[in-house]
Amino acid sequence: MSKRVTSGSELVISGISRAFGAVQALDRFSLTIAPGELVCLLGPSGCGKTTALRIVAGLEKSDAGTVMIDGEDLLAKDANQRDIGMVFQSYSLFPNMTVAENIAYGLRVRKKSKEQINKRVAEMLELVSLQSKMNSFPHQLSGGQQQRVALARALAIEPRVLLLDEPLSALDAQVRTQIRDEIRRIQIESGTTTLFVTHDQEEAMAISDRVGVMQHGRLEQIDTPNTLYNKPETTFVAGFVGITNYIPSVADSKNEVQVLGQVLEISEHSSVVKKGEEVRALVRPESIHVEKASHGAKIITKSFLGPMTRVGVDAGLAELIYAEMSSKEAKKFDTGDHVKISITTEMVMVESV
Ligand code: ATP
Repeated sequence: MSKRVTSGSELVISGISRAFGAVQALDRFSLTIAPGELVCLLGPSGCGKTTALRIVAGLEKSDAGTVMIDGEDLLAKDANQRDIGMVFQSYSLFPNMTVAENIAYGLRVRKKSKEQINKRVAEMLELVSLQSKMNSFPHQLSGGQQQRVALARALAIEPRVLLLDEPLSALDAQVRTQIRDEIRRIQIESGTTTLFVTHDQEEAMAISDRVGVMQHGRLEQIDTPNTLYNKPETTFVAGFVGITNYIPSVADSKNEVQVLGQVLEISEHSSVVKKGEEVRALVRPESIHVEKASHGAKIITKSFLGPMTRVGVDAGLAELIYAEMSSKEAKKFDTGDHVKISITTEMVMVESV
């Protein structure tokens, strides 16, 4: 990773709540983002991600709680006094202004000198690699280019915090990955403290220092992508981050569970269960081992994912069990093959059914 500039600001959100009629969009939501850090809020539709972001931006009021930047109370300020840069899903560029004029906009509003504006616009054009488009109008640019201009415009004012609300969702898959990586590069280069909102877990895991998984207006867990994936603290997080099999199982005791005929330890953070209770065990596809057999379970689907291949196995359960293996290993298997499946971890998370 490139060297981090740590001139960014610290953003501290403490116990903010917001109700819309009977809907509690945010429920005592708290989050601290370190200077220069990129945190993604991830969660299903309606979990309150956008509301949190809009409160920080000053576009929405909170019913309770505080938001501080470097120890300064943000909620007391109007939106345009907050020194915050925003990029939305829709490009929201000014259609009648050129790329350079769009980028200069916030600087003009702040009454910067012509020299300062020209210098900063040139820096921003270089940062997003759009020097050759400075005199183009938004309609002459691709979606990805427009989003880069929106990013340059947001960063031109040297915001204390950058807020990104699903900035990639209007782009098609290939451009999306490219712009995603570019946003991360630019964010690291500028050292800007950033809050990013998305419902796309791959996107969140790919670009964040930490990901906060939200449910019902609260943070369920916030951790590095690696920890979230490997050590989820709730079954909701385990299910939301990455693909998970939910395998019907029976608890042998409060510590052990029978899954596909194997006795496994129940991990902490699981639901509390009783001996004999029917539960679901959460098992990642990479923890399912598949070997050839003469009868029994059968491969129904086979999906090539590049270096990995995922197979869906009918093991007589209501849902297919998914196993992931290297694509080299997967050459041995075809749909219709009979297989034996086993679990390669000694510990699983379980939830009550
Ligand atoms: P999405 O990914 O679908 O945008 P989200 O996680 O960003 O979802 P929010 O937009 O923050 O969720 O909405 C949280 C809840 O608050 C939802 O139930 C939503 O319908 C409700 N809500 C948000 N804004 C308003 C509003 N202005 N008026 C009424 N209800 C609202």
